[in-house]
Amino acid sequence: MAAVDVSAWVRGFAALVDEHATELTALDAAIGDADHGTNMRRGMTAAVAALDDSSSPADTMKQTALVLIRTIGGAGGALFGTFFLRFAGSIDSGSDMVDFARAFRTGLDGVIARGKAELGDKTMVDALAPAADALDREVAGGASAEVALDAAVAAAQGGRDATTPLVARKGRASYLGERSAGHQDPGATSAALLVRAARRALR
Ligand code: ADP
Ligand code: MG
Repeated sequence: MAAVDVSAWVRGFAALVDEHATELTALDAAIGDADHGTNMRRGMTAAVAALDDSSSPADTMKQTALVLIRTIGGAGGALFGTFFLRFAGSIDSGSDMVDFARAFRTGLDGVIARGKAELGDKTMVDALAPAADALDREVAGGASAEVALDAAVAAAQGGRDATTPLVARKGRASYLGERSAGHQDPGATSAALLVRAARRALR
């Protein structure tokens, strides 16, 4: 079975973040403090610079997590760092989608444990959780890696889009109360890019 090349995943996520940095910051300007694009770009650029292609998948993801946590100031960066750190602790050989789906779920659980957000709180969890569910469902059904990740991308993008009407209950956007409704969540937007990057990193 094909699997995700985690170095290519980190590089691809960095490229998508770079491409969408202005959009991510504009989304954060509407309901936060206008730094999500710059935060993520700074962190992912540093993560790419620290990549060592001779490392195991677990070491690659741990290194990425530590760079993100060290480099990104905001809550969003710390939470992505947590995702990668917990992913690193769970990935085994990284050689199949069963392994990937389990590690992705563990990463999500780390974000939830750290940020205490539930589904519908208008955060990155709203994109990551549907993606984890899609991966689990497709892998359990014996789908190919391509089909499983296509389903995860669609689920993440659906979750991202569904954040728009929601009232934020976690993070800076929650300070706006009802006024946070009508804006797409920046962290859910970057989380959907993370899943898209995984789809592109299939080897
Ligand atoms: P900051 O809010 O510190 O400026 P960023 O702008 O980089 O950090 O990231 C904001 C994003 O972080 C939000 O759009 C949201 O998706 C995510 N986020 C904030 N708080 C939480 C939380 N408690 N749990 C999950 N995600 C969160
Ligand atoms: Mg911000």
